[in-house]
Amino acid sequence: MTIDQLLGGMEEHHLTVLYAHRSEAGTTGVAIPCAQLPAFLADPVAWIANHYQVSSSQYLAWHESGYTVRCAGSTSRGKPCRNAVEGGSAVSLARWLELRGAYCHLHSMYGRGLGEVMTNTEVAFRSPYMEAWHWIEQHRGTDSAHSLAKLLLSLWNSSNAFSLRECIENLDEQRRQLALRVVTHFAQHGETRELIDLGYKVCEACPRVYQLGQRAWDAKRELREAWRAADERAERERE
Ligand SMILES: [Zn+2]
Repeated sequence: MTIDQLLGGMEEHHLTVLYAHRSEAGTTGVAIPCAQLPAFLADPVAWIANHYQVSSSQYLAWHESGYTVRCAGSTSRGKPCRNAVEGGSAVSLARWLELRGAYCHLHSMYGRGLGEVMTNTEVAFRSPYMEAWHWIEQHRGTDSAHSLAKLLLSLWNSSNAFSLRECIENLDEQRRQLALRVVTHFAQHGETRELIDLGYKVCEACPRVYQLGQRAWDAKRELREAWRAADERAERERE
């Protein structure tokens, strides 16, 4: 029997060859039609990559990764972060391709583009309050420093109330993300010792922002007092 006769006979009886390759599930079976056996045998990787509609290098990289997507962030030594991205362990080839370029929970929470690269420990111990303060300090007099100063002062003390809009409207995308992390951090941790200390520093660094906040607070207080006096008068007149 020739090979052609063999393949012909297999096709006639609808026999397929099951190729089991290693995968996130242990092994995954792919049915190879008999007519394609010569092409498969000539280059198994190219055949299977084509079957999944990916390139051979993507298919091989998925295997080499141990089916896990690593974080796209870096450590302070400039090395790639070795953490898995969230939901990125033991994933299928399709999911693996989708998640590439994502970040681990630390880099997602504390920022992927901090300007400098940090180890996970450094990232975890550096709060967004401190990050915002560093920006204010290094960019004194700029609009973005004023906006972040308004934000920190608003959280620091209710007598320094600036609207969120005012605090973020002239920020670039990275600083806006930082502002959101500051707000989230405040929602989760509230007034920390660090925020209290930084508030005083911001007052010193941006005295006019502080004065503006105080002036608005005084005006509101005066108005509230005028209302209270008016209500008391009205009350007395009714009696
Ligand atoms: Zn990471």
